[in-house]
Amino acid sequence: MSNVSVPPLEICNALPDEVRQWFKEQGYPAFRADQLLGWVFQKGERNIDNFSNMSKTLRDELRDTIILPQYTIVEIQRSAIDNTRKILLELPDGARIETVIIPVREKLSQCLSTQVGCRMGCTFCATAGMGFARHLSAAEILAQVFAVQDILEPEERITNFVFMGMGEPLDNYDNTVRAIRIITDPDMLGYSHRHVTLSTCGLVDKIKRLGDENVPCHLAISLHGVTDEQRSKIMPVNRAGGGLQGLLDALRSYPVQGRKRITIEYILIGGVNDSSADAKKLAKLLAPIRCKINLIPYNPHPGAIFQAPSEASVLAFQKVLIEKNYTAMIRKSGGSDIDAACGQLAGKKAKGD
Ligand code: SF4
Repeated sequence: MSNVSVPPLEICNALPDEVRQWFKEQGYPAFRADQLLGWVFQKGERNIDNFSNMSKTLRDELRDTIILPQYTIVEIQRSAIDNTRKILLELPDGARIETVIIPVREKLSQCLSTQVGCRMGCTFCATAGMGFARHLSAAEILAQVFAVQDILEPEERITNFVFMGMGEPLDNYDNTVRAIRIITDPDMLGYSHRHVTLSTCGLVDKIKRLGDENVPCHLAISLHGVTDEQRSKIMPVNRAGGGLQGLLDALRSYPVQGRKRITIEYILIGGVNDSSADAKKLAKLLAPIRCKINLIPYNPHPGAIFQAPSEASVLAFQKVLIEKNYTAMIRKSGGSDIDAACGQLAGKKAKGD
């Protein structure tokens, strides 16, 4: 193979058939593509010199043409409360993003970012305050996965991925879905779709598309309000797509398979949406939808305009839902001492800090 006219292959932006097609076009036998996928995704090896089942000539050729994930780990913060770790990454163009490792009982979840900033403008969220810079490519989403592999202890393994970091995943639909397929494809990272959750603020047309295309992930919805007035005040996206009713209609027709349920995320904000009357309205709104509810007490971030709810109001809210036969769990987001909790990611360490 002469490298003069060979198009580069960005391995974390390509699905297995595209990798095989690239190898075929360069005149390599198909099994070479599977060898490369095995090294990068199953063995986690990114030093081409260590691809021991390939000749030196082939390794030299691949070194010039294969693009592996590119990132720099700028900072790792570790929570003293619960061992949550927040990792700040810099991408080759200087953009900075955050990913978080969250211990949940015996498991480790990784929270992934999909955009640099976000344009959804949720008023309780630190990321919204950054504004929107750009989408992440699938390779940049995967770069977060590889960066975390670099820093895990030998006995640790990420068991779940949650698309809940900086950005709205469905606003970057194609790249997010491609990243999910790379995470779940048996020839790539090979995680079960049961261990991947996409959380959205509720882009109705994209939720329909996700269902139609049978994307292998669990769906979580950030609801956070029980009337259009209440929800639009904290989530401007509610004004699009037919408001709360449009969103609930999309959830009703979303294809939930087997024993799976949609997760409803509800951030309880003190004095805004945390009354027992709100809980009763929520129970009524969700009645036709197969779901479970996560109640997340709001974590104020520096400069926040809202307050945390009282413990009594959180428990009272949960009680109403349980009495209406819902599964309703109170989720304390991890890492609040390092601004790694839900709604606190802002990639805020500036260059030169
Ligand atoms: S909560 Fe999510 S969708 Fe809303 S502004 Fe923050 S990152 Fe964007």
